[in-house]
This record gives sequence, structure tokens and C-alpha cells, in this order.
Amino acid sequence: MSESPPAPHDFGTAYVETYVGVATGVFVRQTVDDGPGLRVEGTCPRCHGRTASEYRYGLPGTGTKGLLDRMRGGPPAAPQGDADDALLREVHFCECGHPHPELPADAPFVGCGASWRVAALGTWDAQ
Ligand SMILES: [Zn+2]
Ligand SMILES: [Zn+2]
Repeated sequence: MSESPPAPHDFGTAYVETYVGVATGVFVRQTVDDGPGLRVEGTCPRCHGRTASEYRYGLPGTGTKGLLDRMRGGPPAAPQGDADDALLREVHFCECGHPHPELPADAPFVGCGASWRVAALGTWDAQ
């Protein structure tokens, strides 16, 4: 984990809501400590900031277990093993936490506005 990132976080990138396609960088899936759900961490392909997005499973007992609450109009609840599959279909947004120039006050995420899909997910365990 001491490897330096390939590019520094470009704080000067102006906020633009833009879909940049499938990101080629490494994205890692982690479980969330304080509840059911997953966290996807990686590097924003646009501003190169470190970004992490959390995806919560539906509440147990409501019949939505496995359904990620950010999926709108997505497929019905999937067993947990298919969570990766769902995450690969999901569009991820930059949440690098840096208020990029021209960040709108009502921006859904604090970042550069980029969105992307991931080609594959790693896990810390599997490395
Ligand atoms: Zn970004
Ligand atoms: Zn950024």
C-alpha cells in the first residue's frame, strides 16, 4: 500500500457532470462495518481523487435483501453472490470529497461530477 498513485488528485478540475465510460482503474469492494452493504473504493478516472461509494442492502425482512438501494429500476433482489454483478452494472459517481470548482450547491456528491462503470472489482482479501 506504499505504492504511489499513477496521477495526483487534480483539485483544479472543474465540476462537470459527465459519464466517462468504463473505468480501467482498480476498484475494490469492501464490506461496510456498521451495517449490511458494500463499499466500492477506487480512483476517480477524471480527477484522480480517491473515492468511495457505499451501497446498502435493503433492510432485512422486507423482501429486498440484496437489492442495492441506489439501483433504480434495476433487477429484482439478487442473492449476495450476485452483488458484484450488480455493482458492475451500477454507475458510480465521483465522491472524492473535494469541492471542485463550479461545484453546484445541490450536487448529489462532493467531487468532480464524473460518473463511470467499473470493469471488475477486487477485494482486499483476494490480493
Ligand atoms: Zn472525480
Ligand atoms: Zn476530485
